[in-house]
Amino acid sequence: MKRTNLIGISLVASALLCSAGCASRHHATGGKPEHGVHWSYAGDTGPGNWGKLAPEYALCSTGRRQSPIDISPAAARDLANISFNYQPLPLNVVNNGHTAQVNAAPGSFITIDGERFDLAQFHFHSPSEHTIRGVQADAEMHLVHKSADGGLAVEGVMLQRGAHNPAFDPVWNNIPAPGQTATPSGAFVNAAALLPADTRTFRYDGSLTTPPGTEGVRWNLMVQPVTVSSSQLAAFRRHYHGNNRPVQALNGREVVEDVSP
Ligand SMILES: [Zn+2]
Repeated sequence: MKRTNLIGISLVASALLCSAGCASRHHATGGKPEHGVHWSYAGDTGPGNWGKLAPEYALCSTGRRQSPIDISPAAARDLANISFNYQPLPLNVVNNGHTAQVNAAPGSFITIDGERFDLAQFHFHSPSEHTIRGVQADAEMHLVHKSADGGLAVEGVMLQRGAHNPAFDPVWNNIPAPGQTATPSGAFVNAAALLPADTRTFRYDGSLTTPPGTEGVRWNLMVQPVTVSSSQLAAFRRHYHGNNRPVQALNGREVVEDVSP
C-alpha cells in the first residue's frame, strides 16, 4: 500500500495497519480520540517520517519548537514553585500500543505562575525522551495537564535504575493487552507518590512528543530523578522498549533551571 493512500482513507488504514495492537487514535490528548493515522517508533512509520504520514502531523517535521530536547546548559533562575494538588486516582490504565497511559479522574491539578492545569493523564517512555546534558535516563514519565482554555503543561520525571519504587507498582503491574483498558476494582494510584522529593524543574516551550506534535506545550522536567528497580524496568520493557522520540533541535529556545527549592 502506498503511503499517499493512507491520507485519504486514514481510518481504514489505521484499522488495517494497527492490527498489531496500536491504538494511536486515543493517544496524547488525555484520552480524547484523534482519528490519526498509524505511527510507530521504527521503520517507515517511525519518528523521522511522522511529519509525512498525514497533513495533521506536519508539525513533527516543520515545527521549530518540538520536544523532546537535550537540556544543556540551562539558564539558572529563581522561579515561582509549581504547586501540586494531586488526589488518589481510581486506577484506569490504557495500553494504547505506544505506552501505558493512566487516565486521571477530575480533581487533580497543578498551578504554574497562578494558572491552573488539570491532570488529564500520565504515561511512560523507555528509555527517556529528554536527555540532561547529553545523558539519557532509563525511562521518563509524562504527566499531561490542560488549562480551562486548552493550554497544555507537561511535567516530566526521569526514572533511573536503583531502589525498588512501590509507587509505580499499581500501574506497571496492571498493564493490559494492547488496545485494552484495566480498571482493577479498589485499586488507586496517587501521582504525588511518583514525584521526586525535590520538584524543581527545567522549563522550556515545546510540543507533544507524539503525533500530531502540537506546539505551545509548557514543559517542566524535574531536575531530580526517581528510581525504579531493574526488575520493575524489565517488566515495563516487556511491553514497551524504544518508545522514545529522538531529541529535536533547540532552535534558539531558552531552557531555564529553577534554582530555588
Ligand atoms: Zn510522553
